[in-house]
Amino acid sequence: MLNLVLFGPPGAGKGTQSAKLINRFSLVHLSTGDIFRANIKGETELGVLAKSFIDKGQLVPDEVTINMLSEEVKKSPEAKGFIFDGFPRTQAQAAALDSLLTNMGTTISLMLALEVEEEELKKRLLLRGKDSGRADDQDPQIIQKRIEVYQNETFPVKDYYMAQAKYKGVNGIGEVNEIFEHLCTEIESVNK
Ligand code: AMP
Repeated sequence: MLNLVLFGPPGAGKGTQSAKLINRFSLVHLSTGDIFRANIKGETELGVLAKSFIDKGQLVPDEVTINMLSEEVKKSPEAKGFIFDGFPRTQAQAAALDSLLTNMGTTISLMLALEVEEEELKKRLLLRGKDSGRADDQDPQIIQKRIEVYQNETFPVKDYYMAQAKYKGVNGIGEVNEIFEHLCTEIESVNK
């Protein structure tokens, strides 16, 4: 299996690149943010809970997120591999993902990190907020909070994968296709 973690701050381009990568490598895309938003739309119990954190720019608690992700992985037993987009966001989630995949007889192949500086992220998120209608992309204070949460809670996840020699940083500024080709080169180097 080819299992990728697509990592990076909010607005780095994870969703855009995931959509292209799943086509090239025939993978199943699991975006925890997308799954939460679908639950919010469907007004499920999980959606109501998730919304209370998302609206404040905070992370949904680990236990809730990990259980949801595990259920989603189990829905695709025939998958050739997964792209985890927006997950793991904490070291506890990274450890849970490792044990989930170990139980399935597989592992993370690579963490690809899209590197984009803070000012550019803020610009991109506000622009995205105009089209997507996402409330958390429209409020500068929530955006600031999400970036802080990323720096404090999520950035350390990089060390988790570095320790396993699975981390690869890619410049996330430039043409979408150019960034995509860089990502593909990194993937092909581990997927021979
Ligand atoms: P995203 O679409 O990845 O930017 O996620 C939107 C929001 O969903 C985040 O700001 C968090 O509140 C929540 N969320 C998404 N993924 C996770 C995760 N792995 N752990 C905790 N909260 C998450």
